[in-house]
Amino acid sequence: MSINLEIPKKFGMLINQAQQVSTEIFRPISRKYDQAEHEYPKELDMLAALIDGMNEGGEGGTGARGVRRDTSEDGDKKGANRNGTNMSSVLSIMEACWGDVALVLSMPRQGLGDAAIASVANDEQLERFGKLWASMAITEPGFGSDSSKVSTTAVRDGDDYIINGEKIYVTAGGRSDAVVVWATLDKSKGRAAIKSFVVPKDTPGCVVERLEHKLGIRASDTATIRFTDCRVPASNMLGSPDIDDDKGFAGVMQTFDNTRPLVAGMAVGVARAALDEIEDLLAEAGVRVDYDRPAYAQHAAAATYLQLEADWEAAYLLTLESTWMADNRKPNSLQASMAKAKAGRTAVDITLRCVELAGSFGYSEHSLLEKWARDSKILDIFEGTQQIQQLIVARRLLNKTSAELK
Ligand SMILES: Cc1cc2nc3c(=O)[nH]c(=O)nc-3n(C[C@H](O)[C@H](O)[C@H](O)COP(=O)(O)OP(=O)(O)OC[C@H]3O[C@@H](n4cnc5c(N)ncnc54)[C@H](O)[C@@H]3O)c2cc1C
Repeated sequence: MSINLEIPKKFGMLINQAQQVSTEIFRPISRKYDQAEHEYPKELDMLAALIDGMNEGGEGGTGARGVRRDTSEDGDKKGANRNGTNMSSVLSIMEACWGDVALVLSMPRQGLGDAAIASVANDEQLERFGKLWASMAITEPGFGSDSSKVSTTAVRDGDDYIINGEKIYVTAGGRSDAVVVWATLDKSKGRAAIKSFVVPKDTPGCVVERLEHKLGIRASDTATIRFTDCRVPASNMLGSPDIDDDKGFAGVMQTFDNTRPLVAGMAVGVARAALDEIEDLLAEAGVRVDYDRPAYAQHAAAATYLQLEADWEAAYLLTLESTWMADNRKPNSLQASMAKAKAGRTAVDITLRCVELAGSFGYSEHSLLEKWARDSKILDIFEGTQQIQQLIVARRLLNKTSAELK
């Protein structure tokens, strides 16, 4: 049985626009910036300005900034079924990643730091930082998955905080205007003392040290940033300054409940690109996928395609579910992790199986299939790896704390 969900009509234009961007802007430059690693895709500037205009025109979130938890009256209407800015962000990101994941990650002012600011900043901070391009710096040489191990410090000094530490693998860290840095106010207090700070990149003491060379998403820059006696106003801290309990940490972690569906959406988009491409290649080779006959009665390649597409559908539906819950202000941590785990794994599987189905053509640079197989892996690593998502899901289902199940 297949479930056919209709996308709300109001998103039709947005989806069409994103499809157009994918086909007419991203795809034609996809290979160029895969090969020219670290070169800035200047073609994105005009597009970014267009998206800014759409956001300012109140057309809802079309990217990272759409993930704010809406507190408008609409959301309070009893029984209201909202499809808001989380949904429009995820749908447009899916379409855009059909075009190119790395270029989407390179979009000015659409960084994960922007998503964090949109999710947790107060109104005054939104006013100051809402228009910046912000990357997100959590990972350090000493940890990746276990974000409670943050060792970058933020020490209060009068009306400022002074930040010291090193952050690695910061997406858009080289190009962004600002970086949202996770730092601890007091290492002895554990997770409760971890806070995030918006640090404009031109702040003295904030230095981009190098860019990584990578397997995939080569158009996206990945930076190491060092903070040495980097002084920022106390008002640049996102969320409450109290070190009371784990609430503060829960606050910064809450960003992820909003951004995991976005990353799941990226995975759904690139997987769809590979499926569409392979369907065309199979058709050219005379293999037709027939939805009215059982898979076992068809060509082996068609049967594989049907199996991959069923997997894709499951990832897609989980992504929509977790996004819908965010729009409707329902706790979605479990579903966001399920969607991220399923979509990340599915994208890796589908893109590589499509290379396999296309044989040597798929492995060569004649098609984008090999690129998508490289690009998809990161979606199963950042924003929490496959294993970490499974851990979160297990904790939620078994009602265990992070100390009880690790
Ligand atoms: C291209 C790229 C872009 C990135 N962008 C950003 C960014 O913008 N900002 C940022 O802060 N970070 C970013 N990262 C870092 C990314 O989030 C981390 O790589 C990720 O969290 C995993 O951490 P790690 O690499 O240290 O792996 P580790 O945590 O060392 O994990 C290694 C392996 O062990 C597994 N593992 C770890 N703990 C457990 C456990 N408890 N149970 C079972 N398995 C476990 C993991 O799943 C993984 O397979 C980026 C990384 C890359 C490669």
